[in-house]
Amino acid sequence: MTAPYIFDIKRTSTVDGPGVRTVIFFKGCNMDCFWCHNPEGKSPDPQLALFREKCIACGVCLSVCPAGIAPCRVCGTCAESCPTQARKLYGKRYSTDALMEIIKADLSYYQATGGGVTFSGGECMLYPEFLAELAEKCKKAGIQVAVDTAGNVPYASFQAVLPYVDLFLYDIKCLSPELHQKGTGVDNRLILDNLSRLQAEHRAIRIRTPVVPGFNAGNEVEKIRAYCAERSLPIELLEYHAFGEAKAKALSDALRSAF
Ligand code: SF4
Ligand code: SF4
Repeated sequence: MTAPYIFDIKRTSTVDGPGVRTVIFFKGCNMDCFWCHNPEGKSPDPQLALFREKCIACGVCLSVCPAGIAPCRVCGTCAESCPTQARKLYGKRYSTDALMEIIKADLSYYQATGGGVTFSGGECMLYPEFLAELAEKCKKAGIQVAVDTAGNVPYASFQAVLPYVDLFLYDIKCLSPELHQKGTGVDNRLILDNLSRLQAEHRAIRIRTPVVPGFNAGNEVEKIRAYCAERSLPIELLEYHAFGEAKAKALSDALRSAF
């Protein structure tokens, strides 16, 4: 089993499930939401980003680059040497044991607050075999597991992880299949079907809906609220912010120019 790339690990998060949590962000997504907050999580492969506003033109990156110059091999050597973190490599592979060491470091916080670990992305459910192995290790260590997913995967992927997951943080971005297709690149039939199947199995689910101006804000969000109320599903609305734009620009700048 090849390990997926991880693009971020956040410790002591309080916004991705109950209590204090460690959040592991898996790289790769099979949707293309135009408002994505984490564009560095879309591609399954490592990516270099260049935050030009942080660059002090010291030339260190040029001197250490094994490629001499473009094309970039995405090795990350420049990012390790850059004194201002203008360069950043998104995407690192870990074994499940290495991730467990990081997750277990905050065990006392989880125990004190009812927290645990949240697997997110990108779309962590694109890697059910790896995720199941990791989640099983968490359960054995007494750590509560949440999975943050958009649900656009075969139900067999859910079945692989079900024995080890305490809570699904499940995105509903809109109910109209046509609007969903327009905003995310895929329709939502599989997503809603998977949600019904999880509910039929009495799984703990918390719906999360990003409120995006010009997409679902207003009427569509009210429809989602009504849908959740009919099904007794708790819902959390997530405020839209433009954090993704700077990262998308940095990814694009690194592609356009190695130095
Ligand atoms: S991007 Fe290169 S030139 Fe700019 S600060 Fe980093 S190492 Fe120096
Ligand atoms: S520019 Fe690309 S090839 Fe050169 S050091 Fe940076 S990541 Fe490696």
